[in-house]
Amino acid sequence: MKSQPTLRLTRALRLAIAVLVTLSLGLAPASGWAADGKKAGKSKRKAEPAAASQTRIGQGDKEIVFVAGGPSHGYASHAHYAGCMLLAKAIAENVPNTRAVVHRNGWPKDPKALDGAAAIVIYSDGGGGHPIIPHLDELEPLMKKGVGLALLHYAVEVPKGKPGDKLLEWVGGYFEVYWSVNPFWKAEFKTFPDHPVARGLRPFTMNDEWYYHMRFRENMEGVTPILSAVPPDKTRGPDGPRSGNPTVRARKGMPEHLAWAYQRPDGGRGFGFTGGHTHWNWANQSFRTAALNGIVWAAGLEVPPGGVPSKTPTLEELEANQDFPQPKDFNRRHVEDMLRLWRGEVENK
Ligand SMILES: [Zn+2]
Repeated sequence: MKSQPTLRLTRALRLAIAVLVTLSLGLAPASGWAADGKKAGKSKRKAEPAAASQTRIGQGDKEIVFVAGGPSHGYASHAHYAGCMLLAKAIAENVPNTRAVVHRNGWPKDPKALDGAAAIVIYSDGGGGHPIIPHLDELEPLMKKGVGLALLHYAVEVPKGKPGDKLLEWVGGYFEVYWSVNPFWKAEFKTFPDHPVARGLRPFTMNDEWYYHMRFRENMEGVTPILSAVPPDKTRGPDGPRSGNPTVRARKGMPEHLAWAYQRPDGGRGFGFTGGHTHWNWANQSFRTAALNGIVWAAGLEVPPGGVPSKTPTLEELEANQDFPQPKDFNRRHVEDMLRLWRGEVENK
């Protein structure tokens, strides 16, 4: 009888552990690792213990708030914080009258953090674990007020239902499972529309996990595709949540939209950009400019005639702010060659 309290405690502990295990199992597929991580290089080394934090850059009146998701796919993949820091810096330093705040590791804890935002940028994992899902109701009045919303890479994916409907309303499109697909492929961008977000873009090719066949608003109402390319037929795979479906396979040889601008009827703006799996890609000028233009436009600001200017980050700048330590066998030379090639492409045009 004496041991009963201990037993009770043990039972309570077991129950707590069981609940935690169930919760984490339930969340695992939704958190994106299973969804998007299949083809990603998994880093065996652990992520840096990145505490929630915020970094402010610049002093201007127009505030762009970046929500950077936590560590995800290993070194230099889904490098949400490192990517947000590069983009935030580029905007605050080059677009007059702007300032940027970057929140690390998910949604800001301070409920007032979004109050002064001209646009909110989310670069995070998505799916059922998308950081926006618990905050849809608090975003509603901000979106009504005309605050812009820009989503990068996996952050374009939310579950069908209320989250999907809200992204259709605020951003004009989203990644819907069993409709959209997420292959890696080299996209060739040859022409661009006459739209502020396309300013300064020059033809370029880019290998990325370019999701395509988004669920867009009916008849593309208010949606202007900014980056479009024809995916290789082999990327239109067999049936699966993110691999293919009859509609995707029926579109062989047709262009797909990988970034888009959305003008809401009430004046607010949205921007979606499906690339951004690989961190080094931010060093490609047109790739980076498309994202910067989209964010600045979503904030209701004027995109300069040549696009948002920004210096190409150096390899050292790209290596900064990563969530994971650099692997010992990291091939620096390979990345340097890629950066040199991209610089050459720009200079030769
Ligand atoms: Zn990815």
